[in-house]
Amino acid sequence: MGKPVIFEGDMKTHADALYHKNAFNLLASDMIAFNRSLPDVRPQQCKSLFYPEVLPTTSVIIIFHNEAFSALLRTVHSVINRSPRHLLKEIILVDDASTQEHLKVKLDDYISRHFHSSARVRIERLPTRSGLIRARIHGALNAIGDILTFLDSHCEVNVGWLEPLLAVIDKDRRNVVTPTIDVIDDNDLAYKGSDQLPQVGSFGWTMAFRWTAIQTMDLEEAKRNPTLPIRSPTMAGGLFSIDKGYFMELGMYDPGFQIWGAENIELSFKTWMCGGSLYTMACSHVGHIFRKFAPYTGMGSYFHRNNKRLIEVWLGDARAFYYKLHPDVMRIDAGDIQDQINLRKKLDCKSFDWYLDNVFPESPWPRKGSIFGFVSKSTFRFEFIEYSLAE
Ligand code: UDP
Ligand code: MN
Repeated sequence: MGKPVIFEGDMKTHADALYHKNAFNLLASDMIAFNRSLPDVRPQQCKSLFYPEVLPTTSVIIIFHNEAFSALLRTVHSVINRSPRHLLKEIILVDDASTQEHLKVKLDDYISRHFHSSARVRIERLPTRSGLIRARIHGALNAIGDILTFLDSHCEVNVGWLEPLLAVIDKDRRNVVTPTIDVIDDNDLAYKGSDQLPQVGSFGWTMAFRWTAIQTMDLEEAKRNPTLPIRSPTMAGGLFSIDKGYFMELGMYDPGFQIWGAENIELSFKTWMCGGSLYTMACSHVGHIFRKFAPYTGMGSYFHRNNKRLIEVWLGDARAFYYKLHPDVMRIDAGDIQDQINLRKKLDCKSFDWYLDNVFPESPWPRKGSIFGFVSKSTFRFEFIEYSLAE
């Protein structure tokens, strides 16, 4: 039932010594069953909902690089155990050039022995380390389901997780949707979920993802009926469902992005500005091990370069404001973005100002014509920017 694993004495010393390998407690993960039970933490109203028998099918795409065997297999087993068979077209494991031995023959053997009849589980192996953006793209290009559902490789999907996601996309294929992401504790692997309304996605001054409260304009409705989709300005990026054709139409991720970073905000902006909607479902719960650092090498400094592309393509005039805060990013050469500008034109997307006014009115980002005060990083003084600096 998602209870913590508590170690004492020598076991604790052993567990602590292993922690750095995965940035979570590997020993605890290895001791928990692949098919452990979890508390059903959905709001009460979700439990009595009926979904249409016929819904679009999904390919579940799980990308991984040097993941712990037990964490990866617990993700896969949870998907098989808690997804209606007729909706789960396949599970694609995309191995982003892992080097750890347990992810080679041992993983192949486990999969061919356990999953040959229950579901189509297959592994796609990337020949070179490609990062999470290209790993997801590879999974998408090889998927046969109607809808793509992406998961990290250290998740546990909970009771009834899939139907709410697919049903929202079935209503409108331009709906992009995320589950409520519950915390699996990195120290003791406890599943920490609750039936309270989830948080939604925002972004900070560096354009990094942040969690935020449901916006006031949506709160009353969400409280009254938590089974409805809740608008989310952005998504965390690892766990979401999207119609396959729509993902392609949106150009997937900017192919100029490298390894990781900015892709979740880009897809969120594209969705909202180009005619779609991004929602979080309080009826769909998936646990994810949140960690304090990335346990692998090769994550480099891609964040700012990717963000430069994001800003140039999607922020419009507001980029002058961003560059005031991050003059160093302005100097980065982020490559050619013409294709992305063309895509934005072709899809007839709305502006960043439209997005702020209509999707994210509670955002602290300044609007055109406003004057904005901040503490300068270089002078430590309070300064003002007039946000009409424009192009
Ligand atoms: N990942 C990958 N290639 C990489 C880095 C990460 O395929 O170069 C996978 C990783 O195994 C995980 C997902 O991408 O399934 C997201 O990475 P991570 O969980 O480290 O990010 P976090 O959730 O901590 O932000
Ligand atoms: Mn993760």
